[in-house]
Amino acid sequence: MKDTLKHSGMRNKLAEVLIEKGIEDKNVLNAIRKIPRHLFMDSSFEGHAYQDKAFPIAANQTISQPYTVAFQTELLQVSVNKKILEIGTGSGYQTAVLLALHTKVYSIERQLELFKKTSIFFKKMGYRPKKMIFGDGYKGMPEEAPFDGIIVTAGAPEVPKALLSQLKIGGRLVIPVGIDDQIMTLFVRKSEKEFQKTEYGSFRFVPLLENKN
Ligand code: SAH
Repeated sequence: MKDTLKHSGMRNKLAEVLIEKGIEDKNVLNAIRKIPRHLFMDSSFEGHAYQDKAFPIAANQTISQPYTVAFQTELLQVSVNKKILEIGTGSGYQTAVLLALHTKVYSIERQLELFKKTSIFFKKMGYRPKKMIFGDGYKGMPEEAPFDGIIVTAGAPEVPKALLSQLKIGGRLVIPVGIDDQIMTLFVRKSEKEFQKTEYGSFRFVPLLENKN
């Protein structure tokens, strides 16, 4: 599969849809206009890649809906060189959006098949996260902490304490919390012990699963 002008035209339309749905951050919208989402999906779904929908990827997982990716990225308030931890690499689409914003990305995936597939794809595409590991996102990445931002791209039944503890002061954790559906939740670390919590709308994610490794 290739990236063509036709695909780039469809991405511009997708960005317009996201603006209508309330996404405002220009840098986030530019990242959506830039990243060839169709290349992150099975070729059988190529025709759907620029609809604002989630789609199946390998290992029974999904590539997040573009609106969700944009919404979470906007909440993270990233800027150049910020250190971001992503839980749930999946297809790598969210990772690529963060890289397009010139952040340093660390990412964890617990399905070996996806971890391998996405690692190979990134090499081919020339996407360079700082570190990608096969592991359990509930534990975060203590050896690289603290982070300016942490983004969880699977539905968490509860907020993992390890993730809160790996935030810098002023750092932001964006996490969908809930079982059947999830409330998008933002935690901002105000001090060593204080976190400010804000809840946003309801979303639906595949579950954040514990301890396979
Ligand atoms: N950002 C990805 C979302 C994929 S779906 C994308 O847009 O493609 C969520 C991902 O989280 C899945 O790949 C799933 O395997 C992974 N996941 C679930 N529980 C996890 C855990 N405990 N640690 C790391 N990854 C996890």
